[in-house]
Amino acid sequence: MLSAMDACLFCEIVSERRDRGAIAYQEEEVVVFPSREQRPMNQGHMLVVTRRHFRNLYDLPPALDAELLGCARRTARAVQQAFRASGTTIRQNNEPPGQDVFHVHVHVMPRHFNDGDLSAPYQTVDLATRVEQAQRLAGLMAR
Ligand SMILES: [Zn+2]
Repeated sequence: MLSAMDACLFCEIVSERRDRGAIAYQEEEVVVFPSREQRPMNQGHMLVVTRRHFRNLYDLPPALDAELLGCARRTARAVQQAFRASGTTIRQNNEPPGQDVFHVHVHVMPRHFNDGDLSAPYQTVDLATRVEQAQRLAGLMAR
């Protein structure tokens, strides 16, 4: 029988069965990698994801709350520096219409003045670009 994990894009990335080299940072329970879809005005958009599969924030064990949020904060600081942003926006979606990958994740987006409407179209970012973005972030991720 197919489990949720077998079909999960983020489980495949976290385990490096897909998009090898794209992981920017990892610790025991959380992993950071660039989003496959990014807005041209917000390049360097990262996802903070749990290593284990949970559908969304509703299913996250409370014991992981601090690690997930703490990692989102460290990621935001590093994103701001790595991508020379003025600031960051953190977003998190649970169930449609907001959520489209059903493995809990937090979006960390670099923000620039005049970068427009965050709901404007996203574009697929090729793996080589995502690997380069991951490397830029990696050196700036302090625990
Ligand atoms: Zn998953």
